[in-house]
Amino acid sequence: MIDTHCHVHDKQFDDDRDAVVARARETGVTSMITIGEDIADSRRAIALAEPYEISVAVGIHPHEAKSAPPNAAAELRALLDAPGVIAIGETGLDYYYDHSPRARQAEVLRSQIRLARDVGLPVVFHHRDAFDDFCSILRADWTKGMRGVVHCFTGTAAEARAFIGEFDLHLGIGGVLTFPNASGLREAVIEVGPGRLVLETDCPYLAPVPVRGKRNEPSFVAHTAAKLAELLGMTRDDLIAATDENAKALFDL
Ligand SMILES: [Zn+2]
Ligand SMILES: [Zn+2]
Repeated sequence: MIDTHCHVHDKQFDDDRDAVVARARETGVTSMITIGEDIADSRRAIALAEPYEISVAVGIHPHEAKSAPPNAAAELRALLDAPGVIAIGETGLDYYYDHSPRARQAEVLRSQIRLARDVGLPVVFHHRDAFDDFCSILRADWTKGMRGVVHCFTGTAAEARAFIGEFDLHLGIGGVLTFPNASGLREAVIEVGPGRLVLETDCPYLAPVPVRGKRNEPSFVAHTAAKLAELLGMTRDDLIAATDENAKALFDL
């Protein structure tokens, strides 16, 4: 089982990170990728992940685009040789919160896509309520052979088909899958099937049912795996084998 999107370097884990990582391993989580949200946070991710041999993505979240330095891509590039770094992100567009001006979100996203293309690394995308603009940017900047994932995918079947069919992306499936009001998402994953799905927690946020409302952690990915297996009519082991294979191909693990 692979948690492809967590924030275990978050300060919410400072008091018990050893125990959190140990619980993940005991539950069968074989790999975790902890995701940076700006330059400083990406540095923190690298430093805190190394002793646990946890993988790292370095990037600038759309919420933080407003404070990204003008040479953000160069600063990220300087982090790529650090131990454990395997991806760029999370980056994208978030028009739900609009914490950064939309034009700035787009610039910072495009610079990270270009960086990923130059260095041949996969991209972790954060996308919320910006489908048309996000697809326009992908049509301009995303080229064949690039690898990427739309993390915390919560969209419709039509959006899932577009991300997979047009852009060859993976979809990160997290705790939202287990929420009572997520019937649209459940229909979407049933329609597209397991071929492009990977598991994630996005911890410390978005804990799945039956631990919803608690601080999320990588071991809770097991609840999402169980729900996804049930929806797809697969055994838990087959579902985990399929999503692990997807994650390994996506991130070259
Ligand atoms: Zn995100
Ligand atoms: Zn995240």
